[in-house]
Amino acid sequence: MKQKNKKDIGLGAKPPKGVCNNSKCPWHGNLKVRGRIFRGRVVSSKGKNTAIVKWDYYTYIRKYERYERRNTKIAAHNPECISAVVGDAVRIAECRPLSKSKSFVVVEKI
Ligand SMILES: [Zn+2]
Repeated sequence: MKQKNKKDIGLGAKPPKGVCNNSKCPWHGNLKVRGRIFRGRVVSSKGKNTAIVKWDYYTYIRKYERYERRNTKIAAHNPECISAVVGDAVRIAECRPLSKSKSFVVVEKI
C-alpha cells in the first residue's frame, strides 16, 4: 500500500511525529477507527505494542446519595510511531478487534 504523507483519521487528532510500518497503526497502516473514544493515562506499557490505559470516573448511588469512585482499564494497541510510556495522557479510539483483549488503539498523546 502506498503511504500518504498526511492521512486524516478524523477525530481532530494530530498526526504523530514518528513513522512506523505497523499495519495496525491508524496513521500508517490500514486500521480504521470508529465507535467510542476515551482519554486516560497509561499505567503499563510492558506488553509489545500494548498500553494499558486507565481512567477514573464517579457514579452516583441513589440509595446512599453519594458518589462512588470507579475506574476502567483497557488494553489498547500502542503503535511504534506513538509509543506511549507509563504516565502519558493519551486518547484511545475503538477499532476492530486487534487481538483477544484489544479493540482500542492509541491515537495521540495529549
Ligand atoms: Zn504509525
